[in-house]
Amino acid sequence: MYNFYIMDKEKTKGKLYIISGCSGVGKGTLLNVFLQRNPQIELSISVTTRKPRSGEVDGVNYFFVSKEEFEKSVKNNEFLEWAEFNGNFYGTKETYVEKTLNRGKNIILEIETRGAFQIKKKKKDAVLIFILPPSIEELEHRLRGRNTEDEAAIQNRLHEAYRELECSKDYDYKIVNDNLEQAVGELERIICN
Ligand code: ADP
Ligand code: 5GP
Repeated sequence: MYNFYIMDKEKTKGKLYIISGCSGVGKGTLLNVFLQRNPQIELSISVTTRKPRSGEVDGVNYFFVSKEEFEKSVKNNEFLEWAEFNGNFYGTKETYVEKTLNRGKNIILEIETRGAFQIKKKKKDAVLIFILPPSIEELEHRLRGRNTEDEAAIQNRLHEAYRELECSKDYDYKIVNDNLEQAVGELERIICN
């Protein structure tokens, strides 16, 4: 009886999915469509020291904090993972993720590669999905077309893109975001099968 109870509890725990991909590849766009169609899946909201872009809302896109607040959370061991990316800090608060998984809900973390590997070390059953651009030229075109970064930030993000593409070989799944509708379909086949 007791064993059944344990098995049942384990069976109902949610699954953790990590989505990574170079800046500008279309992760946000893809996830927006996916989550509208699959509202039962939760999205983790990260903490960052990056300044909000126009239109970004605190508590919706990110929790925007100062460097001091971020460092305090690191000291207090509040993060499941955290990393520096392009001069800013980004992190995932552990409590929200664990609470969601314990409620039996699946959760998606949209994070960069260093954070993804930190989590994979702690949680072997985390599923890693990498979003690839159709080409580097198209990636640059999308990054510039979004109009959210200055030239220096664009160059940094393109530089990071090469490092991240190299990391994609250690991911469980890769999706090319060429046709958006097809890419959403592939994501649904992995997460909602
Ligand atoms: P990320 O979240 O990966 O940084 P975004 O979702 O902000 O990327 O997308 C970057 C730009 O690329 C946006 O202007 C978006 O409209 C565009 N985009 C996203 N997916 C596609 C696609 N499949 N085809 C063409 N443009 C796309
Ligand atoms: P952006 O500044 O474009 O919103 O995000 C820059 C990069 O940080 C993206 O690759 C994004 O996936 C990643 N990122 C966002 N939140 C987190 C997080 O909590 N942890 C880590 N490690 N990376 C994150």
